[in-house]
Amino acid sequence: MAWRVARSLLTLRDQFNAKFPGRNKASDGTIGDENHDATSDHSPWYGGIVTAIDITHDPASGVDIDRITDELQASKDARIKYVIANGLIMDTRPQFNPWQWVRYSGSNPHTSHFHLSVVASPLCDDPRQWDLPILGGASTPPPSRPPTKPRFPLPEGHYFGLITGPNESHGGAPESMGGIPNEQYYVRLIQQVLQRLGFAPNYPGWADGIYEQETKDSVAAWQRAHRPNQTTRWGEVWWDDWADLIRP
Ligand SMILES: [Zn+2]
Repeated sequence: MAWRVARSLLTLRDQFNAKFPGRNKASDGTIGDENHDATSDHSPWYGGIVTAIDITHDPASGVDIDRITDELQASKDARIKYVIANGLIMDTRPQFNPWQWVRYSGSNPHTSHFHLSVVASPLCDDPRQWDLPILGGASTPPPSRPPTKPRFPLPEGHYFGLITGPNESHGGAPESMGGIPNEQYYVRLIQQVLQRLGFAPNYPGWADGIYEQETKDSVAAWQRAHRPNQTTRWGEVWWDDWADLIRP
């Protein structure tokens, strides 16, 4: 079957390619294939038109999907149907908390790319430029996200856990020792939220940004209270724990 990609999405991809010529495209996609669910908007079900695109998270090149998807939210562009990134979905349709980020329950949390679906209407072929600050657009930047609610900052397969754990376990190590930027800040944030919720010791200085046994125990206590049916990952903060704990 002949198919093509909605023009609005080709415009967006061209804008990203022009602004970030060296960007990583490893997780890019349009038409469904083994990497992109063929039952979704990645299939040309709307009159032969593919109405979804994935763009790779490549913060080193400036393509930061947290920032981009917040800007898409702020743009209120009428072409948007929904956006998925980092375990959260923002659907614009009236039956789905329109324009609000809520937890995404699909199997792929979308940490290596963001997904944009455009509406199944002639509007999807509206070729106008997307007015996003990151692309040099004129619209005012979105109010910066409250610093206490960043999205899950780790790559797929990684989690916050003991600093003495394997490489995938992020426990506050500095960048020079394999940590991500601001890793200690993120661990402290987890600790502070646990304190606020009453699952962690509350003495001054406890939230030190280093994930040790006491932090692990506190996370496990929170998990027991919130997801008693959980069977694995006790005491570890994965993207779905993060979505519930940090961005509920
Ligand atoms: Zn997708």
